[in-house]
Amino acid sequence: MKPATRVLVTGAGGFIGHHLVKGLKAEGFWVRGVDIKEPEFESTVADEFELLDLRFWNNALQATRGMNQVYNLAADMGGIGYITAKLAEIAKNNILINAHMLEAARLNGVRRYLFSSSACVYAGYRQDEADLAPLREEDAYPADPEPGYGWEKLFTEQLCRYYRLDFHFDTRTVRFHNVYGPLGTYEGGKEKAPAAICRKVALAEPDGEIEIWGDGRQTRSFMFINDCLEGLLRLMHSSYAEPLNLGTEELVTVNELVDLVCDIAGKKLTKRYDLSKPQGVRGRNSDNSRLREVLGWEPSITLRTGLQVTYPWIERELRASGRLQEQLTYVAD
Ligand code: NAD
Repeated sequence: MKPATRVLVTGAGGFIGHHLVKGLKAEGFWVRGVDIKEPEFESTVADEFELLDLRFWNNALQATRGMNQVYNLAADMGGIGYITAKLAEIAKNNILINAHMLEAARLNGVRRYLFSSSACVYAGYRQDEADLAPLREEDAYPADPEPGYGWEKLFTEQLCRYYRLDFHFDTRTVRFHNVYGPLGTYEGGKEKAPAAICRKVALAEPDGEIEIWGDGRQTRSFMFINDCLEGLLRLMHSSYAEPLNLGTEELVTVNELVDLVCDIAGKKLTKRYDLSKPQGVRGRNSDNSRLREVLGWEPSITLRTGLQVTYPWIERELRASGRLQEQLTYVAD
């Protein structure tokens, strides 16, 4: 499809959505952004930005009018503390958004629709060890996803499939694995591990302590936002309609993630483990075999490179908001 295409990005006030609006504009697309809130850290560059609550049918119809493509990124979501504390609320909000958005997009003649799913759809029984086999797309079944948030994502993946089968409605489904980068939430409860760790490291004394949720030996892979955007555009313009992983295969423990951030910040912190806090599955990594096969590409930005951009951004934000004082260096005469 050509850049003259009119594109809707929902969740355009959020982390990935805001970056995606910028990316699509840079490619020459006409973009409408929709969210219940404006982007937090800088103004949108969307051609139109509408504040709409997409849980409601009329708003979903209004959002999708005149659009050729939809990237549906709107969701009630957050880090592990948030999604484990609000099972009913999150599942209810997201099923309303997704059921209404799919139907409204279909009725408004949208030509292609991308649903943002998550690695939280993967079966818990395949993720109970830190050193696990990377997850292939078929490993979501037999189903045992993350309660609430993950079950909703898995069902909406199926709903997209039913829309393809019954209505020939053209859908794409991406399964993100932990995305991080500048302009993402870093405090307040909705932040994910990389942002939370960058914030904690930035706020700690140079030889102080850092609190870690769990024992730090749980594993994950993390994808930098620029790779995420490239993957999204490639998938949208591909002919592949089944769910597809989008993540890196660079598996690290949370301890290693903390060490990396400390290294970038130039701090040596003592780790204090809080085993009472939720830590999610024990281990999770992306198997990118199908991604390579389908897109002929995969994310390549290393965690160190991505954090070298993300950590300074969070540190600057904390400084600008007065949470972090300039280090005063005493210089003797
Ligand atoms: P985000 O929270 O920054 O963005 C989601 C946006 O959706 C928010 O701005 C929020 O206000 C908006 N929203 C929530 N309810 C809404 C409603 N009723 N109507 C309209 N807008 C509403 O999250 P993100 O990290 O940018 O995630 C984008 C998508 O990717 C989500 O669907 C999320 O589930 C999925 N995802 C993200 C990650 C990740 O690591 N960031 C991982 C897996 C899946």
